[in-house]
Amino acid sequence: MQFHGDDKNGSGLVPSSRTPLLLHACCGPCSIEPVELLRREGFEPTICWTNPNIQPVAEHDRRLATLRAWAADVAHVDVIVAGDNRSAWETGVAPHGFDRAARCRACYALRLAEACRTARELGFTHISTTLAVSPYQLFETCGDVLAKTAAAYGLTPVWRDFRPYYPEATRTSRDLGMYRQNYCGCRFSAAEAAVERHEARDRRKAEREAAHAAASVAAAR
Ligand code: SF4
Repeated sequence: MQFHGDDKNGSGLVPSSRTPLLLHACCGPCSIEPVELLRREGFEPTICWTNPNIQPVAEHDRRLATLRAWAADVAHVDVIVAGDNRSAWETGVAPHGFDRAARCRACYALRLAEACRTARELGFTHISTTLAVSPYQLFETCGDVLAKTAAAYGLTPVWRDFRPYYPEATRTSRDLGMYRQNYCGCRFSAAEAAVERHEARDRRKAEREAAHAAASVAAAR
């Protein structure tokens, strides 16, 4: 039997027979649904923050502050800040550059290894990650990395497809006024997201111009 300082409804000290689980979190908005869904499933998540991929450091700190405020004020979930090994990210992940498949696999592996190490150190038996929320992540790759890393540390991976809850997480985080980033985290993803936004803007412009031209032709008949 465990006792937690608070529950989701803020009702004070409550006994819990839930299974403790360490939940690696990539950001506040992506943590909203997993915490709720894992609790419903019988787990009691503790959040583990280890994201040396997020650049620049000011952006990293902003995301962590957002997560901490939500965890303390809304979700009533503990947050553990684990390692932030930026040099390991630069030597193990950055050399993959714009090869996104290889880069993200290495990035997941680095972060989830630190989360699993932390879980073992603190006596958790179950591990999960909020990276299973965003449809922009490489879902199959991340699940594979979690399974392998958890096995290496003797942990049980709890891998769920949270992607159907992404729209709800988007709505809730907007309603709560949480900071929402527009790129995954690394400098490569910031450049890729900027290109995608430009391409989407160009597509919309071309569609508007085509519709305008069609309307002009129809009007001239
Ligand atoms: S896009 Fe995201 S998951 Fe992939 S390397 Fe960059 S920060 Fe890591």
